[in-house]
Amino acid sequence: MGTPTAVELTLSVNDWMNRAAASIEAEADHLTQLDAAIGDGDHGINMMRGMRAVTAALADGDPEAPPGKRLLLAGKTLVSTVGGASGPLWGSALRHGGRELGDTPELDGAALVEVLTAALAAVQDLGAAEPGDKTMVDALGPALATLRERLAAGDPLDAALAAAADAADEGARATTPMQARKGRASYLGERSVGHQDPGATSTALIVRALGSALVAPA
Ligand code: ADP
Ligand code: MG
Repeated sequence: MGTPTAVELTLSVNDWMNRAAASIEAEADHLTQLDAAIGDGDHGINMMRGMRAVTAALADGDPEAPPGKRLLLAGKTLVSTVGGASGPLWGSALRHGGRELGDTPELDGAALVEVLTAALAAVQDLGAAEPGDKTMVDALGPALATLRERLAAGDPLDAALAAAADAADEGARATTPMQARKGRASYLGERSVGHQDPGATSTALIVRALGSALVAPA
């Protein structure tokens, strides 16, 4: 054991989802307020209900399951428990990420890039949002790009994840001046300008939670 070196770091899907659920729960009122401004005010509730179901499903799941299987379970659970757009979107993101991993035993930095690449593609396939449309894509896209760049530059996974989380936060903040072109907020047209997108905001929390899921292999 001892202090893990950067090279050994991998991620626990259960820790990721548990931390994401806790952050979303802590920010649920804020997420709902953001959605009340440009949507129907259910985003905090939607994501909280979904993430609670995910943590429960993972806790009951096979303790030997590889990370890909856990992501599939998490995604399936989100799709089936969240009524709003965010459930199917994040649900397919995690399902496609899980499918991409297959039976890979460890979720290391390179595998995470594959997972998030598949996740972003799934969100865009399903929701057809491009960068700048004021959606979760505006947080997930920059997070993935930053993670990929930092790992390619040789940064250790923990530092790369911190940079990716900062990029997701910045991406979420950058949605404020945008006019929504997808989802419920797009119905508001120009009146959607001046409000931060709720889905980009929760996505930044989910990305930030990755940094709390680092483990050293036994
Ligand atoms: P609903 O809009 O059905 O009430 P939520 O309030 O849970 O669902 O989620 C709203 C969030 O979903 C938005 O803030 C946005 O980030 C995201 N979203 C909505 N439509 C799309 C889309 N087509 N592509 C990507 N993200 C989307
Ligand atoms: Mg809503």
